[in-house]
Amino acid sequence: MVWVLVLNAGSSSIKYSLFKMPEEDCFLRGNLERIGERFSFIKHMLSGSGPFQKRLKIAHHREGINFIFSLLLDKEKGVLKNLKEISGVGHRVVHGGEVFRQPCIINKKRLLKIKEYSILAPLHNPPQVSVIEACLEYLKGIPQVAVFDTAFHSTLPKYAFLYGLPYELYEKFGIRKYGFHGISHQYVAEEAGRRLKRPLQDLKIITCHLGNGCSITAVKGGKSIDTSMGFTPLEGVMMGTRPGDFDPSIILFLLKKGYSIEKIDHLLNKKSGLLGLSGVSNDMRDIMRQLRRNNLRAQIACDVFVYRIQKYIGAYVGILGGLDALVFTAGIGENQKELRERICKGLNFLLKATGARVLVIHTDEEQSIARQAYALLKNEDKSK
Ligand code: ADP
Repeated sequence: MVWVLVLNAGSSSIKYSLFKMPEEDCFLRGNLERIGERFSFIKHMLSGSGPFQKRLKIAHHREGINFIFSLLLDKEKGVLKNLKEISGVGHRVVHGGEVFRQPCIINKKRLLKIKEYSILAPLHNPPQVSVIEACLEYLKGIPQVAVFDTAFHSTLPKYAFLYGLPYELYEKFGIRKYGFHGISHQYVAEEAGRRLKRPLQDLKIITCHLGNGCSITAVKGGKSIDTSMGFTPLEGVMMGTRPGDFDPSIILFLLKKGYSIEKIDHLLNKKSGLLGLSGVSNDMRDIMRQLRRNNLRAQIACDVFVYRIQKYIGAYVGILGGLDALVFTAGIGENQKELRERICKGLNFLLKATGARVLVIHTDEEQSIARQAYALLKNEDKSK
């Protein structure tokens, strides 16, 4: 039996799932949330039985990992007798900078590099590093694989990833477009190829990952050639609490008006987007509810959301030189039919002219991480 454990750490959460490979059967999965708060919360699901939920107190990610391991070994809630049964662990790492272009087995040197990239992803890389460090200690001898959210976009050509800023800023600080949600974009693009029953090599696809964070990617021949998120996840289409593209002079203007850097950071990451425009919520379900009650602010938030997505899709059809499939995924992309229809209605001309299929594909980042980690482990075994 080959078990691959997948760990996906956020700033105050750890998502985990255990896959039997190569079948990609998920035997259990769960989410430990609100780590470091007064009460943490775990939802754990063993396939074939009801969910186990519990309020508990978990001070940090390291303690969280310990607790998750105890569940994997639990007689009723787990499936393992010994942690040594795990063949490898796949870790989601958000930022792999310019160095990590594919998944890799983590060693000291690589871990140091991932730590260095914390400056580019201050909310994500640090908790992921904590989880990796805990695993290196508790699971000695079991390979730890990093799968990067930026890696799928490492194929972006230079003219697509450079900003029109002095070149020295790129050389000195690595200021360029990196792109995110790569694990999801790659997963749904590959699935689109399977559904169209055509080799990915021949296809032009636009993938729209519309969740709390939103990004759009142009995929040509299976490779990302452009993507809407940039140096950070702030760029691109409008999102739940982030504005997407806007004139950067607004930041200078606000600074001159006396706003602090921290306040602007908070404003751009937590208070803008759907929430900021609607004044209702960052959750599209709430916006749609208010929209049906003719709430004008909810209406305008929704209009801006749809319009900006349409602009990106239009631009990407242009650079792809055609379109075979337009893919929607993640919370909004998969569940909000009304919004998908609005987006597509406005693009009717393009969709007709290209003959593109519109697909809704459920994204499963955990499964993709398990698949990529397993492929790497199998290759390593062969080369031994
Ligand atoms: P995250 O990016 O945090 O993983 P999701 O992919 O779950 O988030 O996306 C969250 C967004 O998706 C929210 O705006 C929410 O309203 C929307 N969403 C999630 N599930 C549904 C659903 N069943 N029906 C309609 N909208 C949904």
